[in-house]
Amino acid sequence: MSADSITPFGFESLPVKGALIHLSRSWRRMLRDHDYDALVTETLGHSAAAAGLIAQSLKFDGVVTLQIQGASALQMLVVQCTSDLDLRGLASASPEHAAANFSELTAGAYCAVTVDAGDRPYQGIVEIDDTSLAASLEHYFARSVQVPSHVMLLADSEFAAGVLLQQVPGQSMDDDDWKRLHFLIETLSPRDFEGEAGLELIGKLFAEDDVRVYEPRRVNFRCRCSARKTEDVLKMLGEDESRAALAEQGRIEVICEYCGHRRHFDAVDVERLFADNVVPAPDSVQ
Ligand SMILES: [Zn+2]
Repeated sequence: MSADSITPFGFESLPVKGALIHLSRSWRRMLRDHDYDALVTETLGHSAAAAGLIAQSLKFDGVVTLQIQGASALQMLVVQCTSDLDLRGLASASPEHAAANFSELTAGAYCAVTVDAGDRPYQGIVEIDDTSLAASLEHYFARSVQVPSHVMLLADSEFAAGVLLQQVPGQSMDDDDWKRLHFLIETLSPRDFEGEAGLELIGKLFAEDDVRVYEPRRVNFRCRCSARKTEDVLKMLGEDESRAALAEQGRIEVICEYCGHRRHFDAVDVERLFADNVVPAPDSVQ
């Protein structure tokens, strides 16, 4: 079993569903074009692992977006994971505010989880807990979704990982067992993810329990940007602005902030874009 996957599992004698996510290559690719400090890197990694775990836990066809709109040190953070487990994300931090911990980083920030399955997107507000994103999400699951959950998240510049444990709705659970499971996942450390953490790690972690491990699902870094969506950005910018940029630079370059993909528009492209009957570019994801 390789990294960049989510491994779902269940307990034979406890009403708990779980999943373990371990990101390596996909996570480093997400960081590639950015220069985040250690705290922002860690918070983005926690968010990426969490978005993957949430997407895996839902039966849906669409996109999960975890977003933090900052007020001080962290200006913005957004991670998206599709139901096919295609992941992308980015963050921006204020150069004027340095934060020493999660609490300072997210002071006054607003956090939301949106599940968009096409028709009516559902948005839940995540109250930010001072201590960590994991604690914030535990409160969110308990209060808003009413599914008691344990969340463990770990990340640095090399890996992002996490475990989500959720009680099966409608079944009662012994409190001591539930606390014991929380304690077990809290023992995870970065060292557990140095190799290919998956089946073996789950077995080691819950050695006392009868755990059933399911087929792992692959997670990929994959951006959802396209030529067509970039054209929409230029259309929103407007004809005058686009022509001005073209006159100044000879061509317009639009860089996707998520994946670094560069798209160029010359005079002919801009003419076509603002002509009356526009033929859109193919909606490819190159
Ligand atoms: Zn992109």
